[in-house]
Amino acid sequence: MSDRRIVVAGASLAGAQAAQTLRRQGFEGVIELIGDEAHAPYNRPPLSKKYLAGEADYDSLRLRSMADPAELNVDLQLGRRVSGLDVGNQTLQVTSLADAATVEVSYDGLIIATGARARRLPGVDLDGVFELRTVDDADRLRAEFEAGPARVVVIGAGFIGAEVAATAREAGLAVTLVEAEEAPLQRVLDRDAGMAIVDLHRGHGVDVRLGVGVQRLVGEQRISGVELADGTVIDADVVVVGIGVIPNTEWADDSGLAIDNGVVCDATCLAAPNAVAVGDVARWDHPRYGLIRSEQWDNAVEQGSFGAKRLLAAWTGDPVEPFAPIPSFWSDQYDRKIQLSGVPSDNVEIVQGSLAEQRFVQLYIDGQGRPTGALTWNRPRQSMQARMLLDNDAELDEMREALGG
Ligand code: FAD
Ligand code: NAP
Repeated sequence: MSDRRIVVAGASLAGAQAAQTLRRQGFEGVIELIGDEAHAPYNRPPLSKKYLAGEADYDSLRLRSMADPAELNVDLQLGRRVSGLDVGNQTLQVTSLADAATVEVSYDGLIIATGARARRLPGVDLDGVFELRTVDDADRLRAEFEAGPARVVVIGAGFIGAEVAATAREAGLAVTLVEAEEAPLQRVLDRDAGMAIVDLHRGHGVDVRLGVGVQRLVGEQRISGVELADGTVIDADVVVVGIGVIPNTEWADDSGLAIDNGVVCDATCLAAPNAVAVGDVARWDHPRYGLIRSEQWDNAVEQGSFGAKRLLAAWTGDPVEPFAPIPSFWSDQYDRKIQLSGVPSDNVEIVQGSLAEQRFVQLYIDGQGRPTGALTWNRPRQSMQARMLLDNDAELDEMREALGG
């Protein structure tokens, strides 16, 4: 296989993890890792937490998978965008962002890891309005926070919104958090847990407005306020918009790949012959949950590794299992570590602690009385245990016993 060329499109968490796995699996051919950012692959979670707070520096963002360049031996191409793909001919178009020159690159294997970008509020072009996805975004926002704005308004109480609000409050800034739904994070948590997050923020002095959308942003050249759907105008010196992400797939629109809210793959992450998709951009057929796309760090790492092995298996004939991880994420807000393993459901049982204490373990249970997930607050050991139990298809009583008490 040493004369083969694998191209990784997207040089971030999932792509770097895939490149490292290829080497660890003994792949000796060429690996091209192509990314459109100017930075070597880095870790995004600190961007809304310690890095934004000024408590972590740029070097600390370095990915573990990139720690040993000699082991990796990849041709890392930064500032270059994959701009086209022909899966039939196994060729890519790659465009330099410096001079717009485009070249054709052929591949024997392709790993698609182009991730997602922040959704923007349409028609907004005012200074002082920020999204947060890249380290450049974080640097700009950090500089604004350090200048001590009188009020920060955060739009969207999803992960970005909640974490940025916490970081801004801890920096002593006045913060208003606006969420259109009656409770936040309803796609990933139950209502009471979402409201516990609201209580956490209110307890730290955040002005949380629920059930009211944003009508428009107010300002001439720079933001001065946020007008809500009920007519209220909140003064704002800085606005952070955290309203979800859009998978980066436009470059592959005419490629022959199935594109539908991500790159659609089979249960083994195969998107086309000799092409896999991994990380935030991949929408694969999970044996337990059907077609899903995950936007979490753990998944990008695991799927990056899996996709690399899957690609090699097509050449070695090694058996291939479906990619069927138990989903998991964490979110750090103030001194709370919030972790979910599995998926939520409407039926919730607290087996340790309480919402009021903001330290608890709760189980999610389906209509047949089977556990589907576990949410923990400041209980990291139980979170890991829960993930293993769910992976082993543990019964409800076993989970109650292991995680309760
Ligand atoms: P991405 O990280 O999106 O990387 C894709 C890369 O491909 C980018 O560099 C992009 O610029 C590049 N690219 C895109 N299109 C092209 C193209 N055509 N050609 C070349 N390059 C291209 N998850 C958690 O579980 N816990 C957390 O606490 C957490 N915190 C987060 C905090 C922040 C601020 C952010 C932004 C995300 C956070 N996440 C967290 C989510 C996690 O970081 C993502 O799930 C993860 O980054 C996905 O990795 P990825 O490699 O699939 O995609
Ligand atoms: P998110 O968690 O998907 O939350 C987006 C929020 O904005 C949701 O409440 C959503 O409501 C709302 N929204 C969606 N479209 C909107 C619109 N047009 N106008 C107003 N509100 C809208 O996304 P995020 O907080 O922006 O985070 C971005 C990405 O970073 C995600 O992939 C996330 O997983 C990742 N991230 C993860 C972590 C973590 O795991 N700890 C931390 C930070 C970031 P609906 O749900 O009703 O659509």
